[in-house]
Amino acid sequence: MKIAFIGLGNMGGGMAANLVKAGHEVRAFDLAEPALAAARGNGCETFTDPKEAVAGVEAVVSMLPNGAIVKAVFENDVIGHAPKGAILLDCSTIDVATAREVIAAAEAAGYDMVDAPVSGGIAAAAGGTLTFMVGGSEQAFQRAEPILQAMGKAVIHAGDAGNGQAAKICNNMLLAIQMIGTCEAFTMAQKLGLDPQTFYDISSVSSGQCWSMTSYCPVPGVGPQSPSDNGYQGGFATALMLKDLRLAMEAAETAGSPTPLGSHAKELYEAFAAENGELDFSAIIKTLR
Ligand code: NAD
Repeated sequence: MKIAFIGLGNMGGGMAANLVKAGHEVRAFDLAEPALAAARGNGCETFTDPKEAVAGVEAVVSMLPNGAIVKAVFENDVIGHAPKGAILLDCSTIDVATAREVIAAAEAAGYDMVDAPVSGGIAAAAGGTLTFMVGGSEQAFQRAEPILQAMGKAVIHAGDAGNGQAAKICNNMLLAIQMIGTCEAFTMAQKLGLDPQTFYDISSVSSGQCWSMTSYCPVPGVGPQSPSDNGYQGGFATALMLKDLRLAMEAAETAGSPTPLGSHAKELYEAFAAENGELDFSAIIKTLR
């Protein structure tokens, strides 16, 4: 297929390269020249005008920083400029309301469109092992699925437009809460005289077990390899976790859904991110020691 890819940063760069590897012809656009140069190195054709990039394509994929940018790019440069039959896929993490608004505008102009945010970081984007949570009509999902398969290991239809974003922020709010809980439990166990490895051996096969403990332990040297073993470098940056928590709190307010722990997790990550935004989100254990 002829696919336009907009937003070739940390995530989009690897994703576009995987579309090329799968045999697609990728027409890439980004505002940053270094991102375009890297895309050329990965076999993409690059453009300095987004309208030219989307001309004649069968699909448009975007991986952009936030909802305002996604809305501007789709409304100004994609809708009405990509061919009518093209399928549009936004893989960025953005607010549910903007995702629904942009998809409604695309549908009104005769396009199929999905929101398809991802779980998995830069390594998963490069390795083609992302999980996609997809919102949109059945027909849009059917058309988007084979394109997403080339960039991921799992593609799940979450329901109507915006439901991909809803799944993503609910999941990440739960992750933040569990990570803070895991950090509290390990810190307290240690202060009560328990060796962290001993606590892990017990809790990982007891009812406190969770992903933050057994796949991503915030204590160095305990559990499988994780960012804590590497000075909290790499992994999922605290700043990105905070972004997702802010989106989750916005959505909770709109939906009138109480989130006492989610909002407290947001406050804790807000305070921690002020000076540690680059560190992996499990580094929040430092605030408890
Ligand atoms: P990034 O900042 O590395 O990349 C964003 C790219 O978009 C940049 O290259 C930038 O130049 C480009 N861009 C900005 N405005 C543009 C415009 N108007 N037109 C064209 N290009 C434009 O960010 P990233 O880490 O690749 O994240 C992208 C999205 O993926 C975000 O929504 C983020 O929340 C989500 N995400 C990131 C991770 C991660 O681990 N990095 C994980 C899951 C989801």
